[in-house]
Amino acid sequence: MIQSSVEFFKNLPPKQCTDCGKKIDEQHECYGNHCDHCLAGE
Ligand SMILES: [Zn+2]
Repeated sequence: MIQSSVEFFKNLPPKQCTDCGKKIDEQHECYGNHCDHCLAGE
């Protein structure tokens, strides 16, 4: 059975910050692999 692209993206795991492992809000994905907290700490 072939999944649609919509189903594929729905099943992707949430992005996590590479520094602290916190889940990154999807609206911030343009920031890369760091959460707001770690971005602010740089
Ligand atoms: Zn972080």
